[in-house]
Amino acid sequence: MKFSASTLLAILAAFSQAEAFTTPRATVQRISTTSLDITTLDEWQLLDNGSVVGSVRNHPTLADGDIITTSPLSRPDTARSNNLVATLTGSQYKLGRPMGVAGGAAPVEEPGFGRSTFVKTVGTTSLFAGGVALGVELGGIGKSEMTIPEAKIAVAFPGALSNTELMKRLEERLGPYGYGTNSLVATSLCCDEVNRPLEKALAKQYDEPFVMGGLAGFPFGGVTSFGAMAHHIPDGGSCLVVYGPHVGVDSMGSVGTVNRRGRAKGGSCCGSAAAALGKIRKGAMVPKGDGSAPPMIDSIDAQQAYVEANLAPYAERLLAADDRNIELPYALYDAQKQMMDGIVAKGASAMEGNGYIAMLGGIQINTPDGISDYFLPLSFDLRNNQGKIVKSLLWA
Ligand SMILES: [Zn+2]
Repeated sequence: MKFSASTLLAILAAFSQAEAFTTPRATVQRISTTSLDITTLDEWQLLDNGSVVGSVRNHPTLADGDIITTSPLSRPDTARSNNLVATLTGSQYKLGRPMGVAGGAAPVEEPGFGRSTFVKTVGTTSLFAGGVALGVELGGIGKSEMTIPEAKIAVAFPGALSNTELMKRLEERLGPYGYGTNSLVATSLCCDEVNRPLEKALAKQYDEPFVMGGLAGFPFGGVTSFGAMAHHIPDGGSCLVVYGPHVGVDSMGSVGTVNRRGRAKGGSCCGSAAAALGKIRKGAMVPKGDGSAPPMIDSIDAQQAYVEANLAPYAERLLAADDRNIELPYALYDAQKQMMDGIVAKGASAMEGNGYIAMLGGIQINTPDGISDYFLPLSFDLRNNQGKIVKSLLWA
């Protein structure tokens, strides 16, 4: 389903205004209200950020059946059918039938309810009722027509490029420095299978990648893996390191979830990062990693312990964010860039020839079937064989 960019922006504007005029109701305490003057949400689902997405009934301005995403609930733990819930901005909703329960009964899993079906059933109003900034830059995507996930990407991750556009940009920027068949690509991207299309695109352009990454995209291979990779660069060639966390944007434009092949229910994306954020939200004791001290090690779940320890220093920033699911990949990127810079500083001595080390860091964005994945470049440096930055290759 495609919409013109101007239509999507008009919808965005309408919703932002609606949100602005939705008075934070002063009478939140008055919960003896009858169901007649309260908007009901059916087919609802609680999102990781504490918001509820659902189809409205008795909304003062929207038609029944329109899909909205609320602001985060003040008490997400109270989200149950037949409960009244209040958002942090003071709006109240009654929760009706939860998502996946037809007519109030029946199974939650519906085999064959694939993601393309899902996309088709989503109306235009499913967009960002939660309120997003106006004046969105569409620069990175730059299309006159876009899908709901693409519109959300343009807002949440401005400057993101489709994988195809990214490959063109890499060729254009790296070609003048001799990158081509004698180059070796190293990746540090999360284990999740949704991240392989980017590696496939890189393999098509440069050959199979050396894999340094693990859960959430952290470069678990460390200095040793960088050194090994450096010894594998074809004679006279250079290497390109592509790294970063990933985040899903589903067919309804929700950030932090993704529609998965053959599954009616989506799920967290990145799951590892969401689990780490969940611990931070609950105020669980997370060992603080400073990049050098090894976190609590459980050998059958070592990487996750490491992800949590390395996200812990960003706890305050994440908890204060307007949308934690959007802030999460940005925080992960900062943690991973710091690690990558350290790895290259220490590992560059393994470079044998005079080749370059190009480093592309950013956020990988996973989308529903039928829509290209995107990548938001946040740094792109060309370094010499000692790891010193020669030039920034990042475009404006
Ligand atoms: Zn992941």
